[in-house]
Amino acid sequence: MQLRVHALMECSTVNGPGVRAVIWVQGCSLGCPGCWNAQTHAPLQGFRLDVSEILEWFAKASRENRIEGLTISGGEPMEQAPAVLELLRRLKAAHPGITAGLFSGYTERELPERLWRAMQSHLDFAVLGRYNARRRSHDPLVSSTNQVLRLYTAHYSMADFAAQSVEIHIDDTGLTQITGFPVLGSPVLG
Ligand code: SF4
Repeated sequence: MQLRVHALMECSTVNGPGVRAVIWVQGCSLGCPGCWNAQTHAPLQGFRLDVSEILEWFAKASRENRIEGLTISGGEPMEQAPAVLELLRRLKAAHPGITAGLFSGYTERELPERLWRAMQSHLDFAVLGRYNARRRSHDPLVSSTNQVLRLYTAHYSMADFAAQSVEIHIDDTGLTQITGFPVLGSPVLG
């Protein structure tokens, strides 16, 4: 099964607890006004990766870094739910100590109950709900006050989620990636 991906990052400290690998999926139809990731909206841009290729990427990143978990963001992961579910299931099977988090613009009530229950069974945390630029939040991982941070395992408590911050990554080729919460966060150069 394949996932359409916008970007990958091997190490981030602003997308959930600890050092995390991050995948931004490509494609989101929700159109929240003021979205910071508008370049992830077009469903046919980005690139396709097999779930197996993503798992290989994660395993390599994990060998080279002290990675605590994987965060899946977007774009809208629930618009590629079958592939995301397979990725989470296989990730947890291959790396039992690894935690998994997900950002979705959908609320729990909007998601098909059975699908969301299956997704939740592989997640340690999720941030859910549309971004609302008029209701900005300073809370960890939550961009607007209507969104919720949910915990699905005992692995984390709310105290494990650090204050909003932003990272700027520049690689050897000059590729620059900015992630986190650029409006409210204080910059961390990495
Ligand atoms: S759900 Fe997320 S990616 Fe989609 S428009 Fe809203 S903020 Fe942007």
